[in-house]
Amino acid sequence: MFEIVFLGTSASAPSIHRGLSAQVVIHDEYRFLIDCGEGTQRQILLSGLGFKRMNRILITHGHLDHILGLAGLLSTFMRWETIDSLEIYGGKWALERVRDLLFGVVLRGAQPPMPLHLYEIETGMFLEGDDFNLTAFPVWHRGPDCFGYLFEEKPRRPFLPDKAEALNIPVGPCRRDLVNGQPVTLPDGRVIQPDDVLGPEKPGTRLVHIGDVGRTSDLVDVCRGVDTMVIEATYLEEEAEMARQFAHMTAKGAAELALDCEAKHLILTHISRRYRERDVLAEARAIFPETVVARDFDAFQVKRSDLTKFDLHPEDGS
Ligand SMILES: [Zn+2]
Ligand SMILES: [Zn+2]
Repeated sequence: MFEIVFLGTSASAPSIHRGLSAQVVIHDEYRFLIDCGEGTQRQILLSGLGFKRMNRILITHGHLDHILGLAGLLSTFMRWETIDSLEIYGGKWALERVRDLLFGVVLRGAQPPMPLHLYEIETGMFLEGDDFNLTAFPVWHRGPDCFGYLFEEKPRRPFLPDKAEALNIPVGPCRRDLVNGQPVTLPDGRVIQPDDVLGPEKPGTRLVHIGDVGRTSDLVDVCRGVDTMVIEATYLEEEAEMARQFAHMTAKGAAELALDCEAKHLILTHISRRYRERDVLAEARAIFPETVVARDFDAFQVKRSDLTKFDLHPEDGS
């Protein structure tokens, strides 16, 4: 299961209701901030997530509406010791601009307040957790080295408690070892194989994030069958020519990709203030009904075939 929290959902410039691009993907103890538009640090505070463990940042591309917030965030980290290290991942061009911003403008020769690593990514898996992989894939937009990100839980075999009970396997380390694929020897001498208590392999949840993008034909394979696709929808079809010109998506184009790759759910973001949200939604839903348009501070649980919105502030109901 992954969680995604939208911090900024506006295209190009902020609106009264929408901040600039930023979202957090959460999995176990991991938090990945994807893009960091201007004002993101305040959105992090308002969301209640806080800065703790916000130490991995994935950049989709180097346009200013996706990176300017890094300067303010680092400036704050220079005053508050809230994280142990900061890792920023992105394509070559995006990182050049991020380097200029952070080292040329913010730090200007000063030492970063914590170890600060800029990792240039290429196509392929670049981070592996215990039970998930994070893969980058190329995305066509204005400027080079733009990337999308695919979060994939590793497939796993579910533990079957009924079978374990029938075999009198005690609760505790024995069961844990079996879940981890190791045979165990019980106190009575019997050897139990993982196959005895594990069901058939089930694929893990897959969440894909695509930032600004002007072409989808090369994305169908990498996105095939994803449980949730997050993608920009800057334009409506009535301005498809402008979308082409600036290498952006229309809501219809985004929905067609979701349909073509058999995604289960679609979340649209990077919304232009020139349109009404309901028009964006209607255009996409006409093609792909399982569509939502993200708003700032929307939070979702992404599970196999399932997308559930949840409240970030259950205690105060706001
Ligand atoms: Zn943008
Ligand atoms: Zn862009």
